[in-house]
Amino acid sequence: MTLLQFDRLTVAVSGRPVLRRVTLDVAAGEAVGLVGESGSGKSMTVRSVMRLLPAGATVGGTVRFDGADVGALDAAGLRRMRSRDVAMVFQDPRAVVNPVRTVGDFLTEVLRDQGTGRSEATRRAAAALSEVGVGDAMRRLQQRPYELSGGLLQRVVIAAALLTGPRLILADEPTTALDTTTQEEVVAILAEQRRLRGTTLMFITHDLELAAAVCDRIAVMYAGEIVEILPAARLHSDARHPYTRALLGSRPGAVAPGERLRTVPGVPQSALTAPPGCVFADRCPHAEARCRDVRPVFTGSAACHLLEVL
Ligand code: SF4
Ligand code: MG
Repeated sequence: MTLLQFDRLTVAVSGRPVLRRVTLDVAAGEAVGLVGESGSGKSMTVRSVMRLLPAGATVGGTVRFDGADVGALDAAGLRRMRSRDVAMVFQDPRAVVNPVRTVGDFLTEVLRDQGTGRSEATRRAAAALSEVGVGDAMRRLQQRPYELSGGLLQRVVIAAALLTGPRLILADEPTTALDTTTQEEVVAILAEQRRLRGTTLMFITHDLELAAAVCDRIAVMYAGEIVEILPAARLHSDARHPYTRALLGSRPGAVAPGERLRTVPGVPQSALTAPPGCVFADRCPHAEARCRDVRPVFTGSAACHLLEVL
């Protein structure tokens, strides 16, 4: 069953294109990684699910959640989706958690808003906290955000995201602000908890390997478009789009073991200045004359004129 469906989603902000014809089906229970450089439209794609687009945004195409057109939801439907069905985890937990209130207040607030009594809300908050590995959960509930490290606080945010039993979690670079070891632990917790619950996940990252470790499928974005979609388990063997290959490193051994951050030669394209043809044409080592003028159609798993020969 398809839980989330993007159908030719196109977004412009103040007349400038930021997303173009994003088309992707996410099955219930699936984890899909959205990977690309900054500015490629990853955040905008997931924010459009919650209708959290900047003022002045115009939207074409549709986003459907559980069959319903998100753009057509009334206020009550939107509130239900935001508070119950879909949860978001952002890059910086300190921007989400009220700094002067306790972790317990933060966690129980959502449940209290839904009519859960105080002691029951506290019990469930403590249970959710202990599942994300924060040590003494009862003690954590009394603490305030500044008393916790970034990694611990992001675990609190993950616990909060899981608390209402959402069907979908949208995680936007949830560990980018953390050091590498903490990153891996926090991502492992998120992946494990969502797998246990069968929660659908969209996981945004610029790190292809990290996405492959957490997700079932990977969608690679460039300049506001999805250029390739492939199974995570076959990332290295099946990647065909020149941009995906560039992200992976073009030669075996091109990247030292354990090294994650790869750079692709050239300057990232923005959707605003992308050529009429292939969005990757300016940086692609295989570009031909037609690449700049004729937009490649997304066939099978990727959008590239040369898929047959690459
Ligand atoms: Fe490169 Fe052309 Fe394929 Fe675009 S269509 S990725 S420019 S070969
Ligand atoms: Mg972003």
